[in-house]
Amino acid sequence: MLDTLPLLKNTTFPSINRKKLELLQINLGYICNQQCLHCHVNAGPKRKEIMALETIKQILEFLKYSSIKTLDLTGGAPELNPHFEYIVTETRKMGIDVIDRCNLTILMEEDKQNLANFLAENQVKIVASLPCYIEDNVDKQRGKGVYNASIQGLKKLNNLGYGMDSSNLELNLVFNPQGTSLPPPQKELEVDYKDKLSKLGIYFNQLFTITNMPIKRFGSTLLSLGKFDNYMELLKNSYKHENLDQVMCRSLLSIDWQGFTYDCDFNQMLDLYFNHPTKTHIKDLIDENFENVPIEVAGHCYGCTAGQGSSCGGSLD
Ligand code: SF4
Ligand code: SF4
Repeated sequence: MLDTLPLLKNTTFPSINRKKLELLQINLGYICNQQCLHCHVNAGPKRKEIMALETIKQILEFLKYSSIKTLDLTGGAPELNPHFEYIVTETRKMGIDVIDRCNLTILMEEDKQNLANFLAENQVKIVASLPCYIEDNVDKQRGKGVYNASIQGLKKLNNLGYGMDSSNLELNLVFNPQGTSLPPPQKELEVDYKDKLSKLGIYFNQLFTITNMPIKRFGSTLLSLGKFDNYMELLKNSYKHENLDQVMCRSLLSIDWQGFTYDCDFNQMLDLYFNHPTKTHIKDLIDENFENVPIEVAGHCYGCTAGQGSSCGGSLD
């Protein structure tokens, strides 16, 4: 795979500092039942990296002394970590919201038949990838059969009340473009998604549109197709200063499967540590004040400020 970091390091992106810490995003490991083309963590069934129980306990200790309102669990498929249920239940006991970044197909795996019930019982918010409502497009990006399994997963969640007006179980979907364009306006696409999916009897709360980042698998594909420079030009030319105040790293800390910390998930994939070049572990940040600490920026940050903006919670406008 081709590395894009050397092309991103020298950047004109403005310097930014942190605000109050509100969201902790944890990568529970790189194992996934899928192997998607655009995956920025290169997750897949053969990966071995997984967060250990000891690290999870250190994170829970950090949470006790923090201002964190939301814990955001990612992977790989976060549910494949054997301690997934433990971290969810312990965090919920502290009154902290939990988001599960669910790929939907995991809900249909034979040994995960109780997963959806567990998520509902613990009022876990679900953010699920569905890059398109057209079968061919989904299977092209995420693998054969993924569309059908995702639809079944969504139906299972709806049956439990997820995404329905009558319940407070939140189900949000994520769209990311297939190629080198910016996502279309989030609200308009949400209307389109709701219209198409309701015909299949599927309901959800919000659609989040996310810009593809020029890093890892997607960045490497851009380089090998000779499209990297054009894509970077598009991101830079679409820069909107008003998005800068809201980029997610202002209030988020990202943790890798070993417990090391980063300003965001993308920086984690590029080994750009929080407090770079020092490698800081979460156990050494208990009761730390993050306000005004500088954020490690590079060229890929233009992906967060382009057009309507992009974050793990969708557009910024
Ligand atoms: S489902 Fe998500 S984590 Fe798994 S390979 Fe696809 S993009 Fe990566
Ligand atoms: S890529 Fe990360 S560090 Fe850069 S602006 Fe986006 S969230 Fe912040």
